[in-house]
Amino acid sequence: MGNLYIHPVLKEAAAVLNARGKTAYLVGGAVRDILRGKRAQDFDIATDALPEEVMALFPRVFPSGIKHGTVTVRLKGHSLEITTFRSESGYTDGRRPDQVRYRATIEDDLSRRDFTMNAVAYKLPGGPIVDPYNGREDIKNRIIRCVGRAEERFAEDGLRPLRAVRFAAQLGFRVDGATLAAIPGALKVSARVSPERIRDELDKIIASEKPSVGLLLMEDTSLLDLLLPELSRCRGVDQRGFHRFDVLDHSLLACDYAARTRAPLQVRLAGLFHDIGKVPTRQSNGAGAYTFYGHEGESARMVREIMTRLRYPNALMDQVVHLIAEHMFHYEDSWGDAAVRRFIIRVGEDRLGDLFALRLADTYAHAGIEPDGNLLAPLIRRIDAVLAQGRAFTLKDLAVSGRDLGAIGIPSGPRMGAILKELLEAVVDDPELNRREQLLEIAGNINKRYAPSDPHGA
Ligand code: ATP
Ligand code: MG
Repeated sequence: MGNLYIHPVLKEAAAVLNARGKTAYLVGGAVRDILRGKRAQDFDIATDALPEEVMALFPRVFPSGIKHGTVTVRLKGHSLEITTFRSESGYTDGRRPDQVRYRATIEDDLSRRDFTMNAVAYKLPGGPIVDPYNGREDIKNRIIRCVGRAEERFAEDGLRPLRAVRFAAQLGFRVDGATLAAIPGALKVSARVSPERIRDELDKIIASEKPSVGLLLMEDTSLLDLLLPELSRCRGVDQRGFHRFDVLDHSLLACDYAARTRAPLQVRLAGLFHDIGKVPTRQSNGAGAYTFYGHEGESARMVREIMTRLRYPNALMDQVVHLIAEHMFHYEDSWGDAAVRRFIIRVGEDRLGDLFALRLADTYAHAGIEPDGNLLAPLIRRIDAVLAQGRAFTLKDLAVSGRDLGAIGIPSGPRMGAILKELLEAVVDDPELNRREQLLEIAGNINKRYAPSDPHGA
């Protein structure tokens, strides 16, 4: 194992600890990745030095997870997570250990790790490898297997079943039979895991090259029903018409296409959830087919619930909700420039790329056929042309400002806001109106509608 590539920054950190008579092991994902011949991204180090000793030894250090014994050391542009060897006892709530005890062996530390592939340590700086659970063998055979009895390990921490699935999706490994079989029995424990931890694992599934691998494993083990019941209910909801698949397979294909084309997370999430509203809105049309009127609005409402429940950041949630709400747009060459401008304003210029990526994913997922690369070209040409006119798209582009309206006696406040919005709508319909004198006249007329002496604004 002398031929493993060990990053110099690790040797440097180990030298600092070794000089004080402390040992340092590279552990976790970094060892796994190095053994697979991949460059590791982030580094976890386990040591017998106590957290306060580590804090004292490095100049740039933060107590990032001090209650778990973890400190983060910044060294030569890298972040090293350095954790004191630990063995934990008493998981009474299935979420986190009741107490952390510091002990002096790497074997104790490895025994509390989740999977054999994650329980291999490399003694820094030059080895040897410590591998009490044959993790190397499992890595070679691409198998995800619990350290010890899966039932017990899942009962200790209900996140581990989802981590098994996540690693399967991320690494393309297979979950060992006994480990997989233990998942359904652990669902009650998984139900009590914090939403933030669940979300982080889901994100890694969705960020993987083929998210459906993880999502189908979730379905098989009933994790999907537990964590994303709205999606699980899409199984068997068939659609007929030009759709070949039920709503769940369609959703998975859309998400996979977004992943394959390296679309960002919001597009992948929108692909996954864009049709969940079809379940409550499906109606038979009496002629052997179905309608799903308003499903995009229902999907948007439901995805807001899901993402709120999973504590997604609001900014990401708003993007996903918006993409889903707008995903049914239907362009025709007969659209006038004003219609194109309204479309740009409604979607948002900076969101058009995401919406088009979602449309390609959705189209692919109808039948699993690569969409025509020019599918959106006519609309994109129109958008480019309209944008090139440099016309008004936001209040800032109007030839009058709130101050100008104030000068002709319009009070600032909600009325001013409403009038500016009306002016923008008028200008979007007819760009020629975007001249100061003209807009002031229109604004004056609108304002008369508000005059108390003439409430109906004749
Ligand atoms: P990634 O490439 O996603 O970072 P990783 O293996 O480093 O993969 P982390 O979530 O960063 O995964 O965890 C680091 C290590 O900590 C794991 O390799 C594993 O040994 C241990 N670990 C993390 N979470 C758990 C858990 N819930 N139960 C037991 N051990 C865990
Ligand atoms: Mg990691």
